Amino acid sequence: MEDLQRWCIRNRLYADQQALHLAKGKAAEDDAPPVPPSHLLMDGARGGAIHVPPALEGEFLRHLGADVAAGRSHFLHEIRTPVTRLYFDMDWAAPAGDAVLGAAPETRRGAVLERVRSVQRALARYYPAGAGAALDVLVCGVEGDPRTTDDGALKLGLHLIFPKLFVDREQALLLRAGAVTALRLHAERSEAGTDATAAYWEKAVDAGRYGDNRSGGLRMLGCWKLTRCKVCNNRPAARPHCVRCAGRGRLQSGRPYAVQAYLCSEGLESAEVTRHLATNAVAALSQAALRTARVAPTPGFRRYRGAPGVGAAAARPPSCGSALALVRRETPEFARIRDLVRRTSPFYASLGVLDVKRATRGAGKYMVRVAGDGSSYCQNVMRDHGSVTIYFEVSPAGVTQRCFCRCATTDGRLDGLCSAYRSNASTFDGATRDLLFPGARGRAPGLATRSAGLATPSLQRMIQQLADDPRAFPAAAAACAAPARGPARRRPRFS
Ligand SMILES: [Zn+2]
Ligand SMILES: [Zn+2]
Repeated sequence: MEDLQRWCIRNRLYADQQALHLAKGKAAEDDAPPVPPSHLLMDGARGGAIHVPPALEGEFLRHLGADVAAGRSHFLHEIRTPVTRLYFDMDWAAPAGDAVLGAAPETRRGAVLERVRSVQRALARYYPAGAGAALDVLVCGVEGDPRTTDDGALKLGLHLIFPKLFVDREQALLLRAGAVTALRLHAERSEAGTDATAAYWEKAVDAGRYGDNRSGGLRMLGCWKLTRCKVCNNRPAARPHCVRCAGRGRLQSGRPYAVQAYLCSEGLESAEVTRHLATNAVAALSQAALRTARVAPTPGFRRYRGAPGVGAAAARPPSCGSALALVRRETPEFARIRDLVRRTSPFYASLGVLDVKRATRGAGKYMVRVAGDGSSYCQNVMRDHGSVTIYFEVSPAGVTQRCFCRCATTDGRLDGLCSAYRSNASTFDGATRDLLFPGARGRAPGLATRSAGLATPSLQRMIQQLADDPRAFPAAAAACAAPARGPARRRPRFS
């Protein structure tokens, strides 16, 4: 069989050929109309892209598969179509000795597949009428991973591709949020320890792979990565004389991904299919290619009530008119706040906490960003928001749900704008108050909000500083006059 490069040239699919073709005005009537790029050439060759029309897609994959099997190197990134096979790009890292990534190969493989199954179960909730075989999943990666990085951490890269599930961009992002939640809850329950945080899984499953631009998609099976040559740094002046990269400026790196496992919808591994796809590049590529001529996603998708929204990663930390200090995860305060937030409503029972920040002056309070099931459920609209998440505020008066929605509308709102909304406060016991607000000790919760500020250590320090050094007065006075919350956020309290 002709190699991929010759086949592409003959069919005039390279970007440089297409550009030349158009420039010469040769688009005669019998020529196929130009199509947008379908694959990027990460080595920058031939105009950096290939334009494969849908009719040639199968032939393209056959030629690529034959090249991969013959050991020829390619650097292809497949650009997703508007409707695409569902895929997740996972990069997961752990310190050496991690219970999952640090385990013996067979144990590790089992634990990794267990996590993939938790994703399958989570996705099934989005297809209430049953997903059939649509949740079959290809687990692709590098045999023998994880690799150890320079600083001793373990890294495992995986692509999860669902050959029978077709989604649009919005569905892909929602399903990704569901997968992130499932992975976090699984890690939390399995007590593997180090990776059970919401922020960790948000980062581990790349949210940036679904863009409408060329970045939407994945590196293809069997293809290599390129990294910049560290000797010449790809500088035009140094590159031509570089021995390390032979003048190319970049070096082949990262091993190609191959099929590591095929799980059917119910989570059972088919050893036969796994073996077939692991040893047959053409078959694997035809199952794993993201592009499709379909115009409609797989029917039956429904975002269930409480399903996580897609905005978690984008939400900026809430502002409260005061400097905020991060509360570290290992502290008892963090664990207590997570419990408090989860107990405010059954909707929030499995919420993940992205981060907790403490107001460093004024009335003591904590701002809590959340992720996972329930993180978009706003009590002010009594439903899930489309893309924004809620957050929580913990003050001596109790825990209130607040909302990142900045829409200037009161339509369908229970109590005014979401931006100003506070739910009723859930109170807590004295021991919790002592832990979280040591300065507010002994005060009645309702009275605490304003007067507790006087007792916070930072204000005490400021008062002391004022007594010690009168020159500190202007700064201290300005700090005292600053409202506890930004003026724009204030609204009348109807308590
Ligand atoms: Zn070089
Ligand atoms: Zn809201």
